[in-house]
This record gives sequence, structure tokens and C-alpha cells, in this order.
Amino acid sequence: MRFRSMVCQMSSVELSGVHILLTYKCLYECDHCFVWSSPGAKGTMTLAQVENIIEQALDIPTVTRVYFEGGEPFLFYPLLRRGIELARKHSLEVGVVTNAYFATDDGAADLWLRPLSEMGISDLSLSTDAHHGTGDEKDMVSRARTAAEKLGIPTGVIEIEGVEQLSCPGPKDGSKGQLCFRGRAAEKLAGKVKKKPWKTFDACPEEPPAIGRVHVDPYGNVLFCQGISIGNAWKKPLKKIMAELDPEKHPIIGPLMKGGPAELASRFGVTPKRTYADACHMCYEVRRVLRDRQAVKGILVPDQLYGITSESR
Ligand code: SF4
Repeated sequence: MRFRSMVCQMSSVELSGVHILLTYKCLYECDHCFVWSSPGAKGTMTLAQVENIIEQALDIPTVTRVYFEGGEPFLFYPLLRRGIELARKHSLEVGVVTNAYFATDDGAADLWLRPLSEMGISDLSLSTDAHHGTGDEKDMVSRARTAAEKLGIPTGVIEIEGVEQLSCPGPKDGSKGQLCFRGRAAEKLAGKVKKKPWKTFDACPEEPPAIGRVHVDPYGNVLFCQGISIGNAWKKPLKKIMAELDPEKHPIIGPLMKGGPAELASRFGVTPKRTYADACHMCYEVRRVLRDRQAVKGILVPDQLYGITSESR
């Protein structure tokens, strides 16, 4: 009986949040970036796509909030504003994740954030860490935080621990964000930390057992985690994708839920390396090996999330 209820929980899908990757473009090219963002990255939603994905989110009764992320969503400010306006018109909660590059002085911080405050966003997550650009970023984040607080916007700072101080999987006390070694972090930073045997990575550490949120990128990919697609929202309604999803039968999510990256490697006969930095590092590396396999065609996408950035819209 107990086992049965665990299985039910593992296969639970009740979508409450849609995270919109407005663009893969960013001013920075951080070593820890999961999504390989950079100034030259391709892939930005059109206005029609932003409106479309909000409408699709509204079509799912359990969805109560949307987040705008990137890349850097403030790079496409009119699109961001339109998306927020549409979501708020229908009473969805809205969050935005930014590195606050626009907060060049106090007046600028107020100018950019005031319209968002007037539309009633409920979270501004400010991203700052040891891996961002030049050091001025902390000042910009600080200015944006002050302006947001004055405007009554709830804020949080996402601060990633510097890799040199990191003892993977990172502190759990909320003092710093946990750095997971997927995307560019797997390639650039995994070599800098102490590794553990592959067999220890028998669970996916981040995604909750119940699938409560997805990310949708500019190509329409509906992502369970960065680089793991469950469908394409430009080709099939998100509502239908979610209704048809059986996590246990999904070729990648199924093994990950059953036994983490170790099970994923074993299920597909991939010979693992002896050690990895963390579960995400193993997961990412195994998935890179699997990308050419017919059995997972169209699932381990887009190229952008595997560091192949020549993809054009
Ligand atoms: S183990 Fe894989 S699916 Fe789970 S959080 Fe890490 S990268 Fe994502």
C-alpha cells in the first residue's frame, strides 16, 4: 500500500507554474549558466509567441503563476511588459528573474521597475554571484533591490556560491544558491570540485516528485528540466502535452524518477565515467551521449541547452 502511494506521487502532474524563457540572449556569458546564455545566443520569443504562451497557460485551470526568465528578459523590455500585462489582466501571479543590468543609477532602476510595480508583479528575483561579469553587477542588484522595495515589489536575491568555496551539492541553509553542474557549468566548473562515484547519483535532486512547473523556451520546447523536453507548445497545446504526459513512461524522466542519473545510464547502456561533480553533472553528460539515439529523438533539445549555439530561428 505504501509503495502504491509512492508510485502515485511519483507520477503526479499538476501544473501550477509556467516559466517563460523569453530569450536565450544575455549581456553576460557566465560559467555557471544552465542554459548557455550569451550576448550572441539566438532564440527570442516573438510578440505573438509571448501572447500565445500566456494564453496557453491561462487555458490550464491549475496554473496560477508565470515567471519570465532567460537569458535576460529585460533585454526585450516591451515584450516582457506585454507578457506581464496579459498575465496580470487574467490575475496570474507574475515573477521575473533578472541580473538588473538596467539599474545603472537609482533613477534608472525606478524607471524600469515602476511599470512592473503598477502591473502588480509578485516577485523580482535578482541574480548575482561570483561568476557574473565584472563586479559592477552587485551595485546594480543592490540599486534594483532598493528601488523594488520602495515600489513595494517583493524581491529576492539569488546568489550562487563561488565554485572555489563550494562543497557540492552546496549549502542547504538558504544562504547561497546551490550551483548544479548542468549546461555550461558542467563544462566549465565541474572540473573544479571534488567528485563522487557515479553510483551515488541515484536520485534527481532538484525536481520535485510531482511535476508542478515547466519551462517553455523560444523554440516552443516544454522542458521538464533544461534540455529534457516533454513536447512543443508551438505544435501542440500545452494543456494537451500535460494531459498526455505519463512521467514514468517518458524515456528520460521515467528512469530519472526511478533511480536518478545512475538509472538513466543503466537503462540506455551508457558506460558512466567513474565520478561526477553532482547528479546533474552525470545527468547532463549521459544525456549528451544519448542525444543521437533514435529512441530519444526530439526529447533532448534544443541544441542551445547542450552548448551548440549556432541554431537560428
Ligand atoms: S538530475 Fe537531471 S533532471 Fe534532475 S535536476 Fe539534475 S539535470 Fe535536471
